[in-house]
Amino acid sequence: MATAAAERGTGPLGLLGGTFDPIHLGHLRLAEEAREALALDAVRMIPAGQPPHRDAPRSTADDRLAMARLAVAGNPALEIDDSEVRASRKSYTVLTLERLRAELGPDRPLVLILGADAFEGLPGWHRWQELFGLAHIAVANRPGYAPHGRRWPAILSPELDAACRDRHATDPAALRAAAAGKVIPFDMTPLAISASQIRDLIRMGSSPRYLLPDSVLDYIDLHHLYR
Ligand code: ATP
Repeated sequence: MATAAAERGTGPLGLLGGTFDPIHLGHLRLAEEAREALALDAVRMIPAGQPPHRDAPRSTADDRLAMARLAVAGNPALEIDDSEVRASRKSYTVLTLERLRAELGPDRPLVLILGADAFEGLPGWHRWQELFGLAHIAVANRPGYAPHGRRWPAILSPELDAACRDRHATDPAALRAAAAGKVIPFDMTPLAISASQIRDLIRMGSSPRYLLPDSVLDYIDLHHLYR
């Protein structure tokens, strides 16, 4: 599903995939701070239908999509893309990027936004080396994962190091100069929030309020999710 801001613009478009089980303020600040720090036209948030790298989500794709929509309501720069949820196949990022490339053309800069944990795991992703030819990659710090260092983004595996060695950028202008291929770090407000923490709190009967939007929490309560 293409939406207005992404179709109109010609500048870099951010892409934030995730299970969003449920979406929380860590995801929303990640999208918002990436948009500002990297001068992105908009950020498309793409809930995974069947995430290939982890256990099945606890809530249905429709519930995760509904919660994501509630979370971004009122922010025209954050869009929800339901194509992975609607697809019957596994949600491989490389396939989603190929589809977006075909949809948006060869010249539009695409910026895949990853938290530090997701970046660390990149070499386990399906056809991961091809991601660099399809999009730039922006890496945000995340509490509990490799912090900023002299060589940021901190690269822990030799194969990821080899793939990223000549791709580092620090100036967001580099994202406008090409459609894909750079790896750029950026700082976001450190938020030690995770969806698993929220699910655990709910399961234990504790309150996750203020870790996620009230509208999402109301939806969770209404539909008795994560109990
Ligand atoms: P779970 O706890 O179920 O593993 P999660 O909170 O990590 O979920 P995901 O949907 O798996 O959420 O994450 C989607 C993307 O958002 C990933 O790139 C992840 O690194 C990033 N992300 C999630 N939470 C944060 C956070 N608090 N700070 C920075 N990045 C985050």
